[in-house]
Amino acid sequence: MAIVQIKPGKLFIGGKWVDAASGKTFTTSNPATGETLTHLAEAGESDAGAAVAAARLAFESGPWAEMSASDRGRLLWKIGDLIDKHNEELGTLETLDNGKPIFESRQVDVPMVAEVFRYYAGWATKIHGETVPVKGPFLNYTLREPIGVVAAIVPWNFPLLMASWKLAPALAAGNTVVLKPAPWTSLTALRLAEIFEEAGAPAGVLNVVTGSTRDLGRALVKHPGVDKIAFTGSTATGQEIMRESAAGVKRVTLELGGKSPNIVFADADLDAAVRGATIGIFYGKGEVCAAGSRLFVEKKIKDEFMHKLVERVKKMQPGDPLDPKTRFGALVSQEQMDKVLGYIAKGQAEGAKLVAGGERAAVGGKGFFVQPTVFDGVSNAMTIAREEIFGPVLAAIEFGDADEAVRAANDNPYGLAAAVWTRDVAKAHRVARRLQAGTVWINTYNNYDPAAAFGGYKMSGYGRELSMHALEHYTELKSVWVNLA
Ligand code: NAD
Repeated sequence: MAIVQIKPGKLFIGGKWVDAASGKTFTTSNPATGETLTHLAEAGESDAGAAVAAARLAFESGPWAEMSASDRGRLLWKIGDLIDKHNEELGTLETLDNGKPIFESRQVDVPMVAEVFRYYAGWATKIHGETVPVKGPFLNYTLREPIGVVAAIVPWNFPLLMASWKLAPALAAGNTVVLKPAPWTSLTALRLAEIFEEAGAPAGVLNVVTGSTRDLGRALVKHPGVDKIAFTGSTATGQEIMRESAAGVKRVTLELGGKSPNIVFADADLDAAVRGATIGIFYGKGEVCAAGSRLFVEKKIKDEFMHKLVERVKKMQPGDPLDPKTRFGALVSQEQMDKVLGYIAKGQAEGAKLVAGGERAAVGGKGFFVQPTVFDGVSNAMTIAREEIFGPVLAAIEFGDADEAVRAANDNPYGLAAAVWTRDVAKAHRVARRLQAGTVWINTYNNYDPAAAFGGYKMSGYGRELSMHALEHYTELKSVWVNLA
């Protein structure tokens, strides 16, 4: 496989590639080897301000402000096609920067990014107001208008995909964007900016700023020129963003953490449920907001199920993320690996039974790999069942009946996703209705589609991404009254 050329990263502001005003840089490295990949520009407050000003200018005047919805749609479609064209390069960059298997980057992440752009390309011409039957001699109609400058702040687990979930609906509706990728994984955001140039996007429509600390995100959140913040990341950061954005009453959508329950009833197709439980927690090395990290198994089949599961997990070994056969890669950083190993130690200390994995894995003697790990005998009150680990650690919990399973599943501050495995259709729908989660999968796990809404209940955030519903978060609704008398 061709390894891509990685240039030192600059900032993309107002259609120009520039160094940080301070001239400072930081490094990004490959978590599978620990080796430095390149230097990136360390943007500060003044660079954030320049990016917001460029986005504001493009929003208010010039080709973007005057562009028809149809032409915006055409541009988004072209970007989707260019993403497909550059699949190999984008996938390789994502794998080098994040440690995820190249199989996932190329077959899942990048194709879905292209689909998201094409899906919202279709929406650009379908965002419109309505006429409203009000009393009296009046005409009332609504206009759906773009909000203005959107700060899109994204995490490191699906860097390009999370960016596309924000950019595509924001741009379809006519906003402009300042994108801030996570410090560990900025490479694909910068490559995306080049793709915008290649597609002929007007200057200032997309701006990309990179930085190594939380201060850059904070500067964007506080900036008075930012009208809306679209954030994906941890719940703690989401809470801080809510507080900081309150002064300007900014529009905010938050996609936050999760501790999703995966409920297996005794009447399920057990082999399918074992596969689902494995994919649910180990896809993306468990660094997935919707990871099925709490596995609830009905008592009657618990031993049989756990035996099958552990057999399967023991065959899953971490490997070189660039090898197309690898299905389990490196965690994103030493810090993340240490955090995950800390939770594994805590699980053991609190009395859970380690039945698979549990240790750092050596792949080529380097990198930040952790074995796929399963704990049995977990209670829903243990730390490993309550807190988001954001790594490949599964906590298996036994239950007696549906009421008990639903109660325990809902007994957690998060509410992002959940799954139910059963052959009883009525039971599946009854349970799905009672689960406090933004997504419920029945006899499947980890399905995503640009047309299907995604977002959290409770402390997993608010607002929805993807689908027609995301567009509501990137538009203002104006009610216009006309006196007809
Ligand atoms: P994080 O909250 O530390 O950082 C997310 C982004 O916010 C990064 O770009 C970071 O630089 C920036 N940031 C950090 N502090 C900030 C601040 N004070 N103000 C503004 N921006 C700030 O999260 P992370 O560790 O990068 O990502 C992991 C978390 O993301 C997990 O909790 C995971 O569940 C969540 N996540 C949620 C979804 C979802 O759709 N719900 C998807 C992926 C990840």
